[in-house]
Amino acid sequence: MRSYPEFPNFFCVDHPLILHKLTQLRDARTGSLGFRTMLREISLLIGYEISRDMHLTMHRIKTPVAEMDAPVLDGPEPCIVPVLRAGLGMADGLLDLMPTAQVGHIGVYRDHETKQPVEYLVRLPKNRGQHFFVTDPMLATGHSLAHACDVLVRHGVLPENIRAMALVAAPEGVRNFMKEHPMIRVYCAALDEKLNEHAYIVPGLGDAGDRMFGTVE
Ligand code: URA
Repeated sequence: MRSYPEFPNFFCVDHPLILHKLTQLRDARTGSLGFRTMLREISLLIGYEISRDMHLTMHRIKTPVAEMDAPVLDGPEPCIVPVLRAGLGMADGLLDLMPTAQVGHIGVYRDHETKQPVEYLVRLPKNRGQHFFVTDPMLATGHSLAHACDVLVRHGVLPENIRAMALVAAPEGVRNFMKEHPMIRVYCAALDEKLNEHAYIVPGLGDAGDRMFGTVE
């Protein structure tokens, strides 16, 4: 896991398998099926790394041979919150990893003129002190992800219980996000060079939602 002194609480999960799959995702020749498959696999791998500190408790079981105290996950089921629509692809990978997790949804789109997030849907489970994993693959300006985290904080979720998960980030977006949510940890697979004049990440991978679902703007 790579950290950056200028961005505390921002980490890149730079495992070779993740980086290899990310290259395939970035490749403009990869179609929707390949894109969805790879995004799901990468999300599972990132999720595996970032759920390391989940708490365990001991549970008495009987194996076919003997009784033992064995570790099981403790506390309420975590909640996965995709930011619609591109976050859905990452949520699938986390659900593979944590199949009994709850799923909330936050719908935010980016206004093309202002580049600001516009909220159109919020559906969340009750806050019971569980971990919330917010997914949004492209941390470009950082506004959508910051907005989604605002929504969770408004619902009473503690920043230390929120983990934001992206695929590719731009330095401008990380900076913006950190200004608004310095206590929320953000994990992604790669920190790219910059944003272009249309607020797309360079080199990035294009529009994640369109590539995932085969739509065009
Ligand atoms: N959203 C995307 O899907 N891609 C970008 O590069 C930036 C925002």
